[in-house]
Amino acid sequence: MTDSSKDLETIERTFVAFKPDAVQRGIVGEILQRLERAGLKIVAMKMVKASNDLLHEHYSEHKGKDFFENLIDFMGDGPVIAGVLEGVKAVSVVRKLVGATEPYEAAAGTIRGDYAHVSVEHSNKKDKAVKNLIHASGNLEEAEKEIGLWFSDDEIYTYNRADKAHLM
Ligand code: UDP
Ligand code: MG
Repeated sequence: MTDSSKDLETIERTFVAFKPDAVQRGIVGEILQRLERAGLKIVAMKMVKASNDLLHEHYSEHKGKDFFENLIDFMGDGPVIAGVLEGVKAVSVVRKLVGATEPYEAAAGTIRGDYAHVSVEHSNKKDKAVKNLIHASGNLEEAEKEIGLWFSDDEIYTYNRADKAHLM
């Protein structure tokens, strides 16, 4: 079955990064399974030890905020696993599965709600960034910027998932 032009209008790509806490806790596979299970297609993925420059660019919207330096330290603490996921309304679907920024208030059933529990207040007291396992683009514009920053065009693949007939 081929994509109809109607399908293509609603299919999006979004950027995700499994943060160093997820990599170091050995739960990347479990988390990724949740995203694949929802029908999102992995179209790019790689392990990266992000440079300071890359992280500054990635989080440029937060430059100057209190937590910025702690965030850069946290994200540079070890390798991350970066990826691009594709699907219908992928940006908002992935944000829904990821949950709220502060794990203590992220809903049960979300990645941040199920695998972490800390608050901004607690992290600030420890002078650390909030360890919340995964980054996901907040909107389409952010997704486009982030995909371009982390991946070249030839690292992003096109293929069909075998279960596509039931998912799309
Ligand atoms: N963060 C933090 N303290 C804050 C706000 C955010 O340490 O007060 C960290 C946290 O890891 C978060 C990241 O900075 O995921 C980016 O913040 P943003 O508001 O963009 O949250 P997200 O889009 O990741 O939910
Ligand atoms: Mg954000």
